[in-house]
Amino acid sequence: TLVAGVVAVQGDVEEHAKAIERAARAHGREVTVHEVRESGIVPDCDLLAMPGGESTTISRLVHDQGIDDEIRDHVDAGKPLLATCAGLIVASSDANDDRVDELGLVDASVERNAFGRQKDSFEAPLEVAGLEEPYPAVFIRAPAIDDAGETDVLARWDGRPVAVRDGPVVATAFHPELTPDSRIHGLAFFENEESIGPALEETAE
Ligand code: GLN
Repeated sequence: TLVAGVVAVQGDVEEHAKAIERAARAHGREVTVHEVRESGIVPDCDLLAMPGGESTTISRLVHDQGIDDEIRDHVDAGKPLLATCAGLIVASSDANDDRVDELGLVDASVERNAFGRQKDSFEAPLEVAGLEEPYPAVFIRAPAIDDAGETDVLARWDGRPVAVRDGPVVATAFHPELTPDSRIHGLAFFENEESIGPALEETAE
């Protein structure tokens, strides 16, 4: 059984836990999900999700709890991380906001709340590299990526990158945990050499 962690200092944690379970089931894997509110849990996790919420708050709390270095070690070890919305902002290399202490795990510069006031929240059918059918992407006061650096851009909206892969990290500006469609979690965790999918196949019972 795989061990998953959802960074749970703030944001939509329960939805990510459910989405991880759905994606695991779709890939014939078993997973136990832990909520991560303090240090000492991430080192035991095979895969991690960092949810949306409020990026300045998440940044401060992961730092205060000493979870930031553990997340860095997780990614350095090549284990998959899915960072969504505020999670993308915290994982980025430049949040363009002094109140965010970026983890620098995704080589991207982001703009917070980039899609404008009247478009605070919207759903868009997104073409995502690696997915056959468009993904129903829910954007809520979403960031956009200004500079996708050396990352692989997986999806764009309005011409701007909104999903990228950087090694073991998949980061999205939208909320893949808010729809029943768990394909983004599948992509991040189970369907790539850089995910745990193929690599752990023999050890899964
Ligand atoms: N607007 C939030 C921020 O900049 C992110 C929104 C979200 O995670 N839904 O932190």
